[in-house]
Amino acid sequence: MAARVIDGKAVAAAVRERVAGEVAAMPTAPGLATVLVGEDPASAVYVRMKREDSAQVGIESFHHEPAPGEVAELLAELNAEPRINGILLQLPLPDGVDDAEMTALIDPRKDVDGLTPLSAGLLAQGRPGQVPCTPAGVMELLAHAGVELEGAEAVVVGRSQLVGKPLAALLLAANATVTHCHSRTRDLAASCRRADVLIAAAGVPGLITADMVREGATVIDVGTNRTDEGLTGDVDFDGVSGVAGAITPVPGGVGPMTRAMLLVNTVAAAKAQLEAVP
Ligand code: NAD
Repeated sequence: MAARVIDGKAVAAAVRERVAGEVAAMPTAPGLATVLVGEDPASAVYVRMKREDSAQVGIESFHHEPAPGEVAELLAELNAEPRINGILLQLPLPDGVDDAEMTALIDPRKDVDGLTPLSAGLLAQGRPGQVPCTPAGVMELLAHAGVELEGAEAVVVGRSQLVGKPLAALLLAANATVTHCHSRTRDLAASCRRADVLIAAAGVPGLITADMVREGATVIDVGTNRTDEGLTGDVDFDGVSGVAGAITPVPGGVGPMTRAMLLVNTVAAAKAQLEAVP
């Protein structure tokens, strides 16, 4: 039987509607600063989409395009600006400016991408904090799809700071038994076959094939790879659909959720800052 397709667009639309309701009930609109450095066309598109999403739910966005040498100074200003509740520093930064060094300058209370060392540390310790948007989106998709995580075998392929590591921490916090695979894993197929929930975040088109998937497993494809055939995931969708119980498509799976979770994080940051005002 063909796998159920988990519709990320529909879940993201539901999340946006929920966020819009929360924003409407707040005394002031949350403010999101978007910071774009350099000339990368893909980054420019992502930032534009994030600003459009913000406008749609009532979040006010403030856009900045500093020169590489001005990023640190701008981040300090945005940290101090009460109108700004969240700061989105679009990565990767151009050569000569270090992603991790600049990210670490963001006030953790405004860290809506969840990538500062403090946010990563809180997540690793299983304490509340800002969670990176893509892993948060994957967890939301799993919840909407009704996937039981308690005691489940979860396999994560990829160990980046952005996706794989935070995702493994979230699955562990949800009481899954987590296996973490990466480029040096000896027998990837054998590890993947254990999975009730298999998450591919390697950036390798077609890495996960049907023979690597257990019958009835839930397969989440984070991969977003630009190939000659267009945008493809890390999962051989046609083959794996014949084995899995549920699967996300690319595009239309995790991508829309990543965008939606930025809005969730921005509202959460704004609420926390409102509550902190004496
Ligand atoms: P990355 O390059 O930083 O990390 C890739 C990880 O995959 C590494 O840990 C590496 O060890 C592992 N890996 C690479 N080749 C492998 C192999 N053959 N077998 C097993 N593991 C292997 O990438 P990233 O930033 O984590 O992104 C991963 C993918 O997810 C990319 O395709 C990226 O475009 C996509 N992505 C999508 C979204 C979204 O919103 N949908 C967001 C972020 C990233």
